[in-house]
Amino acid sequence: MKIGIIGLGLIGGSLGLDLSEQGFQVVGVSRRQTTCDIAVSIKAVSAASLDFEILAGVELLFIATPIGAISATIKAVIPYLSPDTIITDVASVKQPIVEEITPLYPNFVGGHPMAGTADQGIESALRHLFHHAPYVLTPTESTPLEAIEKVKQIVNILGSKLYFATPEQHDQAVALISHAPVMISAALIETCCGNSELLELAQNLASSGFRDTSRVGGGNPELGAMMAKYNRNAVLFALKQYQQNLAQVISYIEQENWPSLTQFLEDSQLHRPSFLS
Ligand code: NAP
Repeated sequence: MKIGIIGLGLIGGSLGLDLSEQGFQVVGVSRRQTTCDIAVSIKAVSAASLDFEILAGVELLFIATPIGAISATIKAVIPYLSPDTIITDVASVKQPIVEEITPLYPNFVGGHPMAGTADQGIESALRHLFHHAPYVLTPTESTPLEAIEKVKQIVNILGSKLYFATPEQHDQAVALISHAPVMISAALIETCCGNSELLELAQNLASSGFRDTSRVGGGNPELGAMMAKYNRNAVLFALKQYQQNLAQVISYIEQENWPSLTQFLEDSQLHRPSFLS
């Protein structure tokens, strides 16, 4: 099968590495020639171009550009494809994309591989990034079953754990476990930078706990801003819930209510493993 990828960055490049390794003929399109050259040199794709013409004959096309470019990219590439080509995207937000693309191109399956790093660009592409990671598909009632089946097969080949959700449910769930945490983690980093007298000591003492809690806040700023822009209502809802819980913690500490604070921390200790199993 010939597979195309538009947007040869962290996610597009990583998909290319694994799909090429599995024996698929993978071709890519990106914005910069240097990115195309690197993608070929690391064998993420067998050929890459700035031009959509390279995508002739692809059976499955991944759109892995930044979120803000996905809809425009799909609209621009449709004339270069056979109507049998299945398009899937990897964007971290699904509802606005699925709503815009489904009426234009029925052979479209929304998707989101739930794996990443703090890095960006083709240089950060990794083998087996999606292994054992959740991969969500968000078909609608009108999505052709053969298209869902084909994307499902590829997700299984990547070794990911497949889940289905509606685009709306997906966006609300990822706001809680991914998008709001980016904002919370970024706010934590800025909180630590706010005390200039202690800054150097704090930087020297920061270790594994800070690495864990700051990781997602220290990632790709463009991606974080797009998550908030395209999933605004769900992100605001999650952040306001968080604000209430934080206000509760502040109140326990102000009131020196140690039993209630202990109970709160016991609950969170109990609940955490169910998100990570
Ligand atoms: P990235 O590393 O910045 O890669 C995006 C690549 O897209 C860039 O390297 C850029 O390539 C290319 N590009 C930008 N605009 C383009 C355009 N108009 N046409 C063609 N190529 C274009 O970002 P990423 O982290 O891989 O994110 C890509 C997508 O994956 C996003 O939709 C994001 O929501 C989704 N996603 C990200 C993560 C994550 O944790 N990072 C996880 C899951 C899903 P050039 O170098 O050629 O400019």
